[in-house]
Amino acid sequence: MAQFATGITVLTARGRLAHGMTANAFTSVSLDPPMVLCCVARTARMHDAILDARSFGVSVLSTEQEHVARYFASRGREQGMAQFERVDWFPGRRTGVPLLVGSLAWLECDLAEVYEGGDHSIFLGNVQSASRGGGQALLFVGGGFHHHGTPPAARSA
Ligand SMILES: Cc1cc2nc3c(=O)[nH]c(=O)nc-3n(C[C@H](O)[C@H](O)[C@H](O)COP(=O)(O)OP(=O)(O)OC[C@H]3O[C@@H](n4cnc5c(N)ncnc54)[C@H](O)[C@@H]3O)c2cc1C
Repeated sequence: MAQFATGITVLTARGRLAHGMTANAFTSVSLDPPMVLCCVARTARMHDAILDARSFGVSVLSTEQEHVARYFASRGREQGMAQFERVDWFPGRRTGVPLLVGSLAWLECDLAEVYEGGDHSIFLGNVQSASRGGGQALLFVGGGFHHHGTPPAARSA
């Protein structure tokens, strides 16, 4: 799967267990109605944060946000809303979930269904709002970050 190039998102949840987490297991599911899914490790704090909030936000990261991707994937960051003090964010207009300034796009989703998927859960979301920012896509492939338009260095087989 490391050879499957993806964009990178930060999933966010508000409320009692407010939290953010870098995730690339994210995809569209349905256009009408608009639905998306994300896969979150059962052991991650993000898992219970989404179950508690019954909603989640998605910020699609730009090339300017590699440090943000690394931050929200790091261990030992602050708990709750305190972890968002290190980044610029604004509240989503439908749910109030933190969305990250400087992203390519933002979604706010209500949690529709939860499916078991091995050591992850699959969270299916109804999209409540969608908006676009600007910039170039931050990509993840081959276990590393890449910037849109910059091909990864050639690798030997
Ligand atoms: C590009 C990229 C894409 C990613 N995509 C996804 C994705 O799609 N889905 C996904 O679930 N994750 C994904 N991750 C991993 C995820 O971002 C990190 O694991 C993140 O730290 C989880 O955040 P959390 O605070 O919710 O979980 P945490 O509470 O930080 O826990 C994360 C894991 O670390 C363990 N852990 C926490 N603290 C310690 C400790 N002190 N000692 C030992 N183990 C500990 C936990 O048991 C758990 O297994 C991705 C990471 C990157 C860089």
